[in-house]
Amino acid sequence: MARYTGAVCRLCRRENVKLYLKGDRCYSDKCGNERRNYPPGQHGQRRTKSSDYGIQLREKQKVKRIYGILEKQFRAYFEKAERLKGITGDNLLIFLERRMDNMVFRFGFASSRNEGRQLVRHNHFIVNGKKVNIPSYLMSPGDVLEVREKSRKVGRIIESLESMARRGLPNWLELDKEAMKGKVISLPAREELTMPIQEQLIVELYSK
Ligand code: SF4
Repeated sequence: MARYTGAVCRLCRRENVKLYLKGDRCYSDKCGNERRNYPPGQHGQRRTKSSDYGIQLREKQKVKRIYGILEKQFRAYFEKAERLKGITGDNLLIFLERRMDNMVFRFGFASSRNEGRQLVRHNHFIVNGKKVNIPSYLMSPGDVLEVREKSRKVGRIIESLESMARRGLPNWLELDKEAMKGKVISLPAREELTMPIQEQLIVELYSK
């Protein structure tokens, strides 16, 4: 499956939840999901009843869309999560949170994960003193992510940091806003991930 390049607000409307894919617009009254709170398309306003499979599938699609991951990679995270000790669903979400494009978003250097992915690819960051431009790079506790010296004047990064207060910094991260540098203190606990995700449905789907 190729990466989706259509209107992203349709994805939120399809999942019937705000996925926060468009940065600041998501916090304004221009949010597409708030203005048209029904699925997109000609038959979007029809009432439909979903099967168990349909509900599980939608949950998986929702999480893939939140983190901007394609099926193959998502499945690979699931398989890794299954092999780890602990609850598979929790492990899966923690893998997704550890991705560098997500961390860039969480630290406030980007206004969405999608923008985070672009900024990472464009070489704007260093991790533990080394240049890293791989959005799927997995960060660990103790890792330090910082904006490269020559990228500190990039408008998108500055604007995103300025509007950061609206989103808030998770407890498991530490940010030095002036130095444009953040540290991963720990991995998040499940209860610290507040997106409305029912990961158990994904586990059930893949366990069939
Ligand atoms: Fe989703 Fe953001 Fe569009 Fe609202 S503005 S529908 S949250 S992408």
